[in-house]
Amino acid sequence: MFIDTPVLAPQPVFKASGHIDRFSDLAVECPSCRSKFKLESVLKRNGIGKVPLNVEEANGVLTSVEVKCPECGARLREAYDFNLMFPVQGKEETLYLRPETAQGIFVNFRLLNNVARNRLPMAAAQLGKGFRNEISPRQGLIRMREFTQGEVEVFLDPERKEWKEIPDYEEILFVPPNTGRPVRATPRDAFETGIVKNKALAYFILKTHRILTSVGIEKGGRSGSGSTRRRSWPTTPATAGTLRPTLMTSGLRWLG
Ligand SMILES: [Zn+2]
Repeated sequence: MFIDTPVLAPQPVFKASGHIDRFSDLAVECPSCRSKFKLESVLKRNGIGKVPLNVEEANGVLTSVEVKCPECGARLREAYDFNLMFPVQGKEETLYLRPETAQGIFVNFRLLNNVARNRLPMAAAQLGKGFRNEISPRQGLIRMREFTQGEVEVFLDPERKEWKEIPDYEEILFVPPNTGRPVRATPRDAFETGIVKNKALAYFILKTHRILTSVGIEKGGRSGSGSTRRRSWPTTPATAGTLRPTLMTSGLRWLG
């Protein structure tokens, strides 16, 4: 099913999805010139590659190492969480511009499942705008404040996880989150050897890889972990507890 839901949704939707509490980047404000930066990039400029996982850890780093403001050179001392959603003040409530298209599918699950005659598996897709209040947006193809996103959500009965056979396919580079060691395998072998725990997921990795390479995205990408704390594989805390791999090419995320 293909649906088209509003780009604005009320706060309870994003409270339930976890976006209000967790969809954030660590940021830092210079006490001297008041410039604001994404902490990750400032640490990188100061030669620190490891990204802290939370505010406490970040402040630990800022206390022990002298990290300088890229603008004026003053010492940066305090990190904070910067939520990436755009709030919009309605007449009586706060709404948010959606940071991704999935929530429109989740909040309409009951309606969609009625249309599907209460049967699972069921798939719903949506194409549309997403909005993210990036601290330092790069005007490129991948990271802007407003971008077009396409999502397909597939719902399986948790009691009946069987799935159709996974067809023959070429080997893809998988990076399992538990080891971080790249493994080359076909999607079927990845499932049978436990690299991918779920048969349907292995099937959709194949399908997605096939679609993306057929439209010209270079081969040699990998399926594995995202690079930021928000996108750790196999689950993203922001959404409904589904398994969610990330396909990457040349270090850029092209599907999550
Ligand atoms: Zn400064």
